[in-house]
Amino acid sequence: MKRPVFVANWKMNLGPTEARAFIRKFTARYKRRANRTVVIVPSAAALTTVATALARRKDIIIGVQNIHAESKGAFTGETSAVMARDAGARLALVGHSERRHVFGETDDATALKCARALEHSLTPVLCVGETLKQREAGEAESTVLRQLRTGVSRLTTTQLPGIMIAYEPVWAIGTGRNATPADAAAMHGAIRAELAQLMGSAKAAAAIAILYGGSVNADNARGLLAASDVDGLLVGGASLDPVAWSAIVST
Ligand code: PGA
Repeated sequence: MKRPVFVANWKMNLGPTEARAFIRKFTARYKRRANRTVVIVPSAAALTTVATALARRKDIIIGVQNIHAESKGAFTGETSAVMARDAGARLALVGHSERRHVFGETDDATALKCARALEHSLTPVLCVGETLKQREAGEAESTVLRQLRTGVSRLTTTQLPGIMIAYEPVWAIGTGRNATPADAAAMHGAIRAELAQLMGSAKAAAAIAILYGGSVNADNARGLLAASDVDGLLVGGASLDPVAWSAIVST
């Protein structure tokens, strides 16, 4: 298996003061390990604080939860890829299910954001996933692959290797009901096959990290990570506790 990627998505939790305390506790527990990539994705308001707190831990990468599709301008309340990069982010979540379902983000918007992220040297983590209704209707795979194809549709073949994908079934996010390792392996395999087709190369597709997310915790992390084609984990709730998060990244 390639070097696993662990991403903490803090969502709208942990402001600067709490973020600083978290980083202190987490870095005391988690010592640098070369065989894994650890990413913290705080709120935009805490980005600079986290970057400063991690100044001596270059092994831990910082991400941003969302970027606007434009690089700058009159977009009150938004964060651009340029600003996120300047604040210390190296990665950007794109199309998280809460962006899609709470804020109405479309597949086309995710395509623009992936392109913008790469333009400004942020690695886009394109999040895809079906709702329970879509799964029950037998549309899980077609939904996910459509989100994938559209999300990468504005990238050139030379840009495609620069992305990551996160499969997060909507019914598993924050519900305590995670996908089984077999469910994850099946969808990750389908995503990998689609990438191979888009990239015209199975080898190139194999190099792209496909993360699983949705009710990951310290108890189920190992089993999910062992599933085939699962290259890492995107963790919400359990990443807010430095003890649980240390256990997950040490899986
Ligand atoms: P959860 O969230 O781990 O709390 O289910 C995952 C996510 O939304 O990225």
